Amino acid sequence: MNQIGTAGQARISQATVLIVGVGGLGSYAAVILARAGVKKLILVDPDTVSLTNLQRQALFTENDCQEHRFKVTAVKNHLQAINSSVEVVAIPSPLTADLVSDNHFDLCLDCLDNYRGRALLNELAIEHHFDYVFASCAGNYGNVMAISPQEHPCLACLFPDIKQLMNTDCDIIGVNAALLPLVAGMQASIALHYLVDQSTVDFDHLITYDNWSMTANRFKVSKQATCPVCQRHQQISTGQGGSQLTMLCGANAYYVRLAHGVKLTSWAYHLNSLGALITSNPLFIQFKWVNRPVSLFKNGKLVMYDLANRADAEGQLNRIIKLANEIREITSDESSCHSNN
Ligand SMILES: [Zn+2]
Repeated sequence: MNQIGTAGQARISQATVLIVGVGGLGSYAAVILARAGVKKLILVDPDTVSLTNLQRQALFTENDCQEHRFKVTAVKNHLQAINSSVEVVAIPSPLTADLVSDNHFDLCLDCLDNYRGRALLNELAIEHHFDYVFASCAGNYGNVMAISPQEHPCLACLFPDIKQLMNTDCDIIGVNAALLPLVAGMQASIALHYLVDQSTVDFDHLITYDNWSMTANRFKVSKQATCPVCQRHQQISTGQGGSQLTMLCGANAYYVRLAHGVKLTSWAYHLNSLGALITSNPLFIQFKWVNRPVSLFKNGKLVMYDLANRADAEGQLNRIIKLANEIREITSDESSCHSNN
């Protein structure tokens, strides 16, 4: 390809790309970039593979689901089978400021499925001076835009109502599974263009694609003089407007990270005595609380299933925090017994 050439391929082979979210979009984008021969991919996603992912998330198998693999681990395994010369770093955690400052990368791909995460990524891009490619899918509609928020519009310039979007549940609409590889392909294409020659990338247009009528459009986006994020540096991702509960796409499930790690053995022992424990292993436990399944991971990640809406999830979270306090009290009683002996 003339646009890439030998010099462009050399730049691609020296590049590191951070992919935030490796579900429907991120798994496809990761495959394209691994096959294109980037030097290194850093994959960030806190979720494990579930059965409901398999109809639209390309790389995962029933075995990944049975083994409760983190999505980043499953994607890493597949990528290394495709191109063993690509270095893949799998980080099974949500995006944080530390993660951005601790890792060098040339470009980031926003493959998230929620606007709370996207708002945080946008703020981090402004604070840490990096560019990224936004993409989203809902129903038959896909959006893609290259974002360089220092000089050009940021995500909050594009979506002035981003605070409302942050509390929108993404799986009400569902996603056409065939849309995902198209949008991820556009996103990866912009990424390759950026890595070859960022001076000719268009950072001022949103591309929308309708996968049913097969029509694409480009819309000019302007940097907003009153944008609270890129002009006034407000942190809207951590502001009021809902808890840190994040809805998982494609399931009536929410996740949150409990403060500090958890002692799974204490949880398993206590829940077993209540007859609520379903399974336990060194990595995670599953139990039922108020008749609804819950998974708790060693790193403190809590996933609550079968919830009707956000208010229902908040109620279940409050009950589980109460349970966590009870378990902490029992455990500290036990440790004081040990120190007395
Ligand atoms: Zn802005």
